[in-house]
This record gives sequence, C-alpha cells and structure tokens, in this order.
Amino acid sequence: MIQLPSQFKERSREVVAPAEYDAFISSFDMEQPVSVRMNPYKKGEAPFCQERIPWCSEGYYLSSRPSFTLLPVFHGGAFYVQEASSMFLEQLFLQGIFPAIGKDIRVLDLCAAPGGKSTHIASLLGKEGLLVANEVIKPRSKILVENVQKWGTANTMVTNSDPRAFGNLCHFFDVMVVDAPCSGEGMFRKEPLAREEWSEDNVSLCAQRQRRILADAWDALAPGGFLIYSTCTFNREENEENIAWITRNYEVEPVEISLVSEWNVVRTETEGISAFRFFPHRIKGEGFFVTVMRKSSGERVERKNRAVGKGVFLSPAKNDMQELKNWFGHPGDWEFGVRNQEVYAFYNGRKADAEQIAAKVNLIYPGLDVGQLFHNKLKPAHALALCNDLSSSVVPVASLDEADALNYLRKADVGCEKFALSLNLIVYRGVSLGFLKRIGNRCNNMYPKEYRILNL
Ligand code: SAM
Repeated sequence: MIQLPSQFKERSREVVAPAEYDAFISSFDMEQPVSVRMNPYKKGEAPFCQERIPWCSEGYYLSSRPSFTLLPVFHGGAFYVQEASSMFLEQLFLQGIFPAIGKDIRVLDLCAAPGGKSTHIASLLGKEGLLVANEVIKPRSKILVENVQKWGTANTMVTNSDPRAFGNLCHFFDVMVVDAPCSGEGMFRKEPLAREEWSEDNVSLCAQRQRRILADAWDALAPGGFLIYSTCTFNREENEENIAWITRNYEVEPVEISLVSEWNVVRTETEGISAFRFFPHRIKGEGFFVTVMRKSSGERVERKNRAVGKGVFLSPAKNDMQELKNWFGHPGDWEFGVRNQEVYAFYNGRKADAEQIAAKVNLIYPGLDVGQLFHNKLKPAHALALCNDLSSSVVPVASLDEADALNYLRKADVGCEKFALSLNLIVYRGVSLGFLKRIGNRCNNMYPKEYRILNL
C-alpha cells in the first residue's frame, strides 16, 4: 500500500483534534463503506435497502459491494452509487434553501460530472425546479448526460462550458453548487493513487483554481441566492481559507443549519459562516467538506423571463402536439421544442429558460430528449423510456426476468414471441430499461449501443 504523504500527515494536525489524530490516520487503512441513494421516482422493487444514512432520506449503506453492472435496475436509474458524506447536501436544501426561497428555483451545479450531486438535487427539486448541470470536460459531460437521462426526472439540462461563460447569465440562478476539483485527500482510501499525486504545491494550485472558478461564475448567482461550496479534501487552504477569501471579496450572509449530534459531523466557523467536515474516523463515509452561504446585496430580485431573439427551439406543428402529449402521464405539465429535428420536452415555463441558457453557454442536453417526429408519429428516444412521467398506457409493457433483462441490456438475443407487435417498453421489477420494437418475427432492440453492458 502506498504510504500517506508525510506533509499531509503533518498538516492534518491543523484540522483534526489531537485526541482523534491517530484514529484519523488509521481510518485510511480501513475498508470503505459502500452506499447508494435510491431514486424516489422509480417505483421498482429496491434490490437492497439496508442501514439508513441518517442525513439523507434515500441513502443506504450496503453490507458489501455487489456487482452493480449485474443489477438491471441500476441501468434503469433506480439508484445511484454515491459516497455517503456527499449526501449531506440534502440537509442544506431542506433546512436552508427550500424554507427561504421554495422549490420553484433555478439551480446551477457548476462542476457536475459524473452526476452524484446533480441526480440528488434533481430528486429534491422534483418538477417545480430547474437544474442546470455543467461539466467543463467534454467526455465527462457525456457521462453526465447519460446519468441525467437514467435518473428520469426531466428537470435537468446539461451544459459543457467553462465557469467563465456562466458569468454572462447574470443573476440567473437562485442556487449555485460548486463541488470543486480539489487535491482529493478524502479519496486517499477510495483511490490510493491519489496519495502519490498529492503535493503541497498541488494543494495551493487547487485553492487558486477554486477561487478562480468561484469568481468567474459569481455573477450568475442572484442577490439573495445561495452558494454551496464543497470539496473532498481536508486541508484548510482549499476549505476554510477559501470561505475567508469569499467573505473578503463578496457580500455573503450565514445560513442556519442544525446538526444532530449522533451524526458525528464536525462544524467549523469562518467569519460567521458555518462549514461541515466529514472525517472517516467519525462517520461511515469519505472525507468531505461543505459550506452554504447566502449572497447579500439587498432583496432577492424577482425575474421575469427575458425574451431572447428568435430562439433555437422551434414549436412543433399543431397536429404533432397531440401525438407528443399522448406519451406523458401528465400531458398538461409539458411544453415542447425542436432543435435539429430532435424534440425536447420541458416542464411548463422552462423552455424560455432553455432559450436563455442556449444563448450564453453550450447547452448539450436541453431537456428531456423525446425523439423525432415522422408524419405525426413519434419515434421515441431512449431517454423517454426512462422518464418518470412516461404514460403507463402508451406502450405495452414487457416485464422480463433477470436473465432476459441482462440480455436486453447487452443487446443480445431475447427471443421475440413474448413481445407485442410494434413498440414495447422493457421493464424489470417495475423499472423501465428501454424500448424494443417487434416487426413480425424480428425484434429491434432499441437500447443504445454506447450504453450496452459489454462484459458479464
Ligand atoms: N459534483 C460531482 C459529483 O457529485 O458527481 C463531482 C465533481 S468533481 C469533484 C469536480 C469536477 O470539476 C470534475 O468533473 C472536473 O472535471 C471538473 N473540473 C475540473 N476543472 C475544472 C475547472 N477549471 N472548472 C470547472 N470544473 C472543473
């Protein structure tokens, strides 16, 4: 096993109580807990719901690590494999943000891939709020799209832009989450190679980059809006010292968050702003640091949607509208826009948001991808199969057993006799996995090639 860097061990004395120091250092050699967060909108039978994570309503620890790839519902977005400490984000929304400004809000998750926090926020917002999940690194933004589609909440847009571009969306967001790229000390247990890559210089570089990210995107946050800043590292430079830097450069106010003492989370305070530290010797989870504060500067501004030129999302033709609405359980909730022949569905009012976002940043996934229209008939996209509001009567359901569900996900042969003619929704234990089309005795497995399971 690669040793912990000696300067890291020394510097950790600044953040860990002396009596806990040995336990802290030993915790890096202990087995890491496995945890998942369930999707509250997927009504399937949960494959495992064991010990609860106390700060997250849908979070569970597992007693061992299963092969997630072999669980078909994993591919249908029934749960997300996520480290438990990060799920504390929920408390910031439930205790701090929703009571103050409600759920009809716009949230920016600025450093979002692969999507752990985004899928969590999407669950919390439901159909009232809008989440914009951004990832600057292109290949990572594609993984983010995949995870957003699987989650099925349809309240999430994905962008692929540098944080600087968001400064142009002035005061657009009510909440900005900056889960910053960091020196990763909290990952020393999960990814031992992170120990080799650590250096004091890299800590300083990370701290500077975090400040730049915050400064570049600051204008995107509305006055009265909330900033959540987090890292998975322990040192003060990337954490409390960055809070101090924020308070020196911007006007911010504290946000009240209560802790339950049994959680064993440590609160620190910098210039009146609380932050929460998760230490692996105190809690079942990895190292994590998170703070929430409110941008001051007067009253919260009520915005009207500003009109944007011609717009990039065309309205579908009138006679296509009925066809599109047929696919949804709550047809009145939706509006539609067509870009490059692809139809996207937005919760009411969010199409105008998509126009504004598309005008300023690189909007790669604007809303729920519904599919393409041919002669007033929809050829549905994969994302629609996984959407939580897909109408239960529009497509016959084919429930598969585990072996066939895995074959479907591999795009291997699943036979044809059990399927209805034309389109079928493939379901395993109540969770949709995708579409399949039967034409006579031939079946077209519509599961996307790029997502298929390669090795069983
Ligand atoms: N929030 C994610 C989650 O919960 O799954 C994890 C985010 S990870 C800690 C930080 C992300 O920031 C990475 O996806 C990384 O690609 C991205 N990143 C790296 N450099 C960046 C930069 N200069 N500006 C913005 N994001 C950056």
